Amino acid sequence: MLEMETELTALKTRLIEISDLNNAAAVLGWDQATYMPSGGAEARGRQMATLAKLAQEKFIDLAVGKLLDDLQPYEESLPYDSDDASLIRVTRRDYERAIKIPPEFVGRFSAHSSESYQAWTEARPANDFARLRPLLEKTLDLSREMANFFPGYEHIADPLIDFADYGMKAASVRALFAELREKTVPIVQAITAQAPADDSCLKRNYPEAGQFAFSELTIKRLGYDYTRGRMDKTHHPFTTGFSIGDVRITTRVQENWLGDCLFSAIHEAGHAMYEQGVDKAYEGTPLAGGASAGVHESQSRLWENVVGRSRGFWEYFYPELQKTFPEQLEDVSLETFHRAVNKVERSLIRTDADEVTYNLHVMLRFDFELEMLEGKLAVKDLPEAWHEHFQADFGLRAPDDRDGVLQDVHWFAGLIGGVFQGYTLGNVLGAQFYAAALEAHPEIPDDMRQGKFDTLHRWLIENIYRHGRKYTAEELVQRVTGGPISIAPYIQYLHSKYGELYKI
Ligand code: ZN
Repeated sequence: MLEMETELTALKTRLIEISDLNNAAAVLGWDQATYMPSGGAEARGRQMATLAKLAQEKFIDLAVGKLLDDLQPYEESLPYDSDDASLIRVTRRDYERAIKIPPEFVGRFSAHSSESYQAWTEARPANDFARLRPLLEKTLDLSREMANFFPGYEHIADPLIDFADYGMKAASVRALFAELREKTVPIVQAITAQAPADDSCLKRNYPEAGQFAFSELTIKRLGYDYTRGRMDKTHHPFTTGFSIGDVRITTRVQENWLGDCLFSAIHEAGHAMYEQGVDKAYEGTPLAGGASAGVHESQSRLWENVVGRSRGFWEYFYPELQKTFPEQLEDVSLETFHRAVNKVERSLIRTDADEVTYNLHVMLRFDFELEMLEGKLAVKDLPEAWHEHFQADFGLRAPDDRDGVLQDVHWFAGLIGGVFQGYTLGNVLGAQFYAAALEAHPEIPDDMRQGKFDTLHRWLIENIYRHGRKYTAEELVQRVTGGPISIAPYIQYLHSKYGELYKI
């Protein structure tokens, strides 16, 4: 037993060093996206790549495999959910995946992604798909190559989906999405048959300082811990953590659009509260982090939409917002404001979409990923396929590719495959977790009306956050809700909320 303890300590020591390298790279990434002058870009890219390479080399070292093998009897002697057994299990899963991907490929893919991302930043504003086409074709080849490091799949997208949402497959996501589409389309039709909500009150002039200060105040009240984080401005809001004690968020401000800064801040604070809530004992190990892309997104969407766009939330916060912006909001009733932040409409851009139509945007992308990986859709035909499918789903056609296939960075900075389903899984899981929280604490909506958010926050810490990556998404859902992933609570949530707002 003493020997096992020595080996476990040796494993943890290595893992902490790897985590240090990765977190140092994350600090550089945060700096790049917030304060770094543009002149630093080239060297910064190299510095981050060096750290990533060192971390990767340290992790795929045969010595890590040997330690994991030696520790297997110890792991088997422990209960499944013990911290030590979970650490060994999750590390082994990561290790076995990492060693299948040749470092040569990692370098090739990273270099290609940088080139493609750089080209996208210029080609999107210029509406120039032709420039990106050869790059995207190469991305598709590389995505297939990546999937083929994991032979034995049912669908070629399966390994890529598995990276982000461990345990999910193309078939399981497809089945879930088909059901969701069938239930969502009638709701969208019923709402959009009515006069659209008036959201002109959100488009007045709201000075930056007031928006930023109100967002800070709001997320603090929700439970984001400022002694273990901070919020800065950036172009595309994100969350990044360097340790459980330092999880940072970013937002952006548009002075003629009140929705962006605040809801981006709440969204990112949701991601960050998850990571701030992980058990401190997991610091520096693979257990510190979120269970999956879908579970991570469930927390940002839960706080942003289920909480942040609820009636109770605004009963509490609206008087405060009116105090911050008296001239802009004195003639706007709570009723009007609440409808404005819940406006549902068919629109072109995923990131601006409301919570009812949002998933249709995701499903479109998910279907395209599968078709491209299957070889049924060529990259050269993608822009037109996009317009056609979009027209069929939304009754709209983007005026150009800039607001069509070029709008999202994902395929131009990473893989084709596995990068979108997590957003919709997040909506579904968020509603499912919230329903479980309500069952345990029916007083949550009344508490929120009075500005008390810790009933919900504490429940999330206890049931989800503190476990980090100990459980898979599937295990977590089973533990928390007593059943498998289900769209029923999400559909119920949409019916009850939008039924009231739009009398459908
Ligand atoms: Zn998110």
